[in-house]
Amino acid sequence: MGLCIYLNGKFYASRDKALISVYDHGFLYGDGVFEGIRVYNSRIFKLKEHIKRLYQSAISILLTIPIPAEKMEKLVIDTCRRSGLKDIYVRLVVSRGMGDLGLDPRKCPSPTIVIMADKISLYPPEKYLNGIKVISSAIRRNRPDCINSQIKSLNYLNNILAKIETFRYGADEAIMLNDEGYVSEATADNIFILKNSNKLYTPPAYLGILEGITRYCVIDLAKKMDYTVIEEPFTLHDIYTAEECFLTGTGAELIPVIEIDERLIGAGKPGKHFKRLLAAYQKLTQTEGVKI
Ligand code: PMP
Repeated sequence: MGLCIYLNGKFYASRDKALISVYDHGFLYGDGVFEGIRVYNSRIFKLKEHIKRLYQSAISILLTIPIPAEKMEKLVIDTCRRSGLKDIYVRLVVSRGMGDLGLDPRKCPSPTIVIMADKISLYPPEKYLNGIKVISSAIRRNRPDCINSQIKSLNYLNNILAKIETFRYGADEAIMLNDEGYVSEATADNIFILKNSNKLYTPPAYLGILEGITRYCVIDLAKKMDYTVIEEPFTLHDIYTAEECFLTGTGAELIPVIEIDERLIGAGKPGKHFKRLLAAYQKLTQTEGVKI
């Protein structure tokens, strides 16, 4: 109880029993795709959306997932149920599978499927209350014409390098710019800024961001709450002069940003619009989703 891992047809109740080969190309080359999904109060939030994105990522890298999406949904539900948990972070991974020591994916006959129903804690609770400090990273986000940012692949080195940079500055997170110098996203989260009391800006997908599922939820909620949502490119200056700023992602959920590159954002504490949106988001997560 308290954890369940599905691996290629079997369920395991402990971390050290669910093991994969060192010849797995997910391990050797980051060749694979994944999703992070949350379960709130025994409801899987946006399950269909996550499964859809997983299969789309797989199509893009020519990885044929050997089971249909409906079966994958059922497996996720089953893994969650077996974990005995009510609030869960699910990590769903499909790698190219076991091959030889060369790159050639044709030598990997069967993809590895892993579903982990566990817990995740990206920031301590006080950061959610008081906000985080971020830096702008010198590491540019991958160009979408090289590695398309819609592919949620197992290769996160670009983002990890930016994350490492934050530690040098004692910050919590890094904001990555695209190759033209426009704000793209954080290392594993999307970014929003608020200006003129009701205008919510977030970078458009074509700048090379992952189109986060949480991002869409927030856009949707904000529109219903009469905010004007604007998806257009903006620069660091716009964050420096924003009234509020926050990040969104399945793992981090909604987290306020109070400082960037040593400039306070607004009053330097979580803003009232953030709090309104957070309340609406939390309500949604508690009421929506597939029952486990
Ligand atoms: N950007 C990146 C690079 C991510 O890895 C993620 C997922 N953690 C997000 C944004 C947020 O996406 P979602 O809201 O779908 O979790």
